[in-house]
Amino acid sequence: MSANKAPKNHVFYRNQNWHYPRIQKGEGVYLFGEDGKKYLDACSGSAVANIGHGNKEIAQFAKEQIERVAFTHLSRWTVDVIEDCAAKVCEWAPGDLNHVYFVSGGSEATETAMKMARQYYIERDGKKSSKWKIISKWDSYHGNTLGALSMTGHPGRRKYYDPMLANFPKIPQFYHYRNPWGCKTLEETSIKAAEALEAEILKQGADNIAAFITEPVVGSAIPGVHPEKIYFQMVREICNKYDILLIVDEVMAGFGRTGEKFAVNHFDTVPDIIVCAKGMSAGYTPMGATICNEEIFETIMVKGSGNFIHGHTYASNPLSCGISLKVLEIVERENYLDNAKVQGKYFMEKLNELYKYPIIGDVRGVGLMAGLEFVKDQETKEPFETSENVKGKFTVNCLAEGIVPYPGGGSADGVRGDDTLLAPPINITREEVDELFTGLEKAIAKTC
Ligand code: PLP
Repeated sequence: MSANKAPKNHVFYRNQNWHYPRIQKGEGVYLFGEDGKKYLDACSGSAVANIGHGNKEIAQFAKEQIERVAFTHLSRWTVDVIEDCAAKVCEWAPGDLNHVYFVSGGSEATETAMKMARQYYIERDGKKSSKWKIISKWDSYHGNTLGALSMTGHPGRRKYYDPMLANFPKIPQFYHYRNPWGCKTLEETSIKAAEALEAEILKQGADNIAAFITEPVVGSAIPGVHPEKIYFQMVREICNKYDILLIVDEVMAGFGRTGEKFAVNHFDTVPDIIVCAKGMSAGYTPMGATICNEEIFETIMVKGSGNFIHGHTYASNPLSCGISLKVLEIVERENYLDNAKVQGKYFMEKLNELYKYPIIGDVRGVGLMAGLEFVKDQETKEPFETSENVKGKFTVNCLAEGIVPYPGGGSADGVRGDDTLLAPPINITREEVDELFTGLEKAIAKTC
């Protein structure tokens, strides 16, 4: 098969107008295509390849771990690397989030959190507990499996499956640029968004709500959108007041992407559950986790039935745990959190220069998790028509410059405009940020 043709038998590709060459290898922040071109991976796949591509230390470790033991089943065995990875993840997690359930990815992690929240209330209050609903938000993404999709607030992703989804309440996102309250500052928007949670709890009845789930920095739905600290402080108080668990979805933002171990640390808040994946194994193996606090663990596993009714074949996979442990050790040893802070600040400064181009409506982000929103009119914020395919044109122009953005975002209901995620590996150097920015700026100028 030649380059730039969608493979026939592989998976369901949505983009039949294929612009991506087959990849031959990856090294550091670069991917090398069969077309002879070198591409700077400006999105780490989808905020995954945090330590860059082709890491030899991980390759060597994986070989050794496979030779030692690659698979054991969670229900009967434990292995040193599983325990060591759990200890490391809990050392990274804030507060008393000291218990981890390993899975294979982000959707499994959010589904695990949903079920954990429901079982927590049953074990605590008895089988008749009415607490099962999870409040989430519009303009959010928590995964594609049916439970995760029930929490996801993205009409385009939900539309065919609506009858199969749980009827979970949704509230507005802390999306300042297009906030529905007419707020002038991010702080005001953050307060209004937190107040919307309390209003929804009162509407539904706290007795029917098990948890509230939120991304700390929004990923694929509206990349880079984040609140002020006050949002999380209010939300934490509201959850405590109404006896509702706070789940923070760190699948994209966790493990150093924003310059902190977890993005929620920026907001000085300790949730009850964190869900994570992606950067945890940096793409070297499928991996995810649900980390819960002492109260939830004790209630289910010590005082309660001692049996969390859940489980996947690849839960606590030794190979994946070993590789994740190694990734986290490398991030620590090489100070990649500090690098994400320093390069993230520099990158955001550069991105703010892009307002000089008329299609740039909003630039936002934290650390190395940034988003650009494209508009037809900077003044009125009028979005482009879907048929204008601005995100598609921008992506093709980026590829021509050897830059790979993540063409996520943009509400599939066509209500608002196009966005793109920029999230290069967190070990990117300043020179590589400059190279990324130069290519990006050329692509934007061409798209205007
Ligand atoms: N949650 C968030 C915030 C995500 O960004 C994603 C994926 O992009 C998921 C959950 C789902 O993760 P996965 O694709 O690994 O199932």
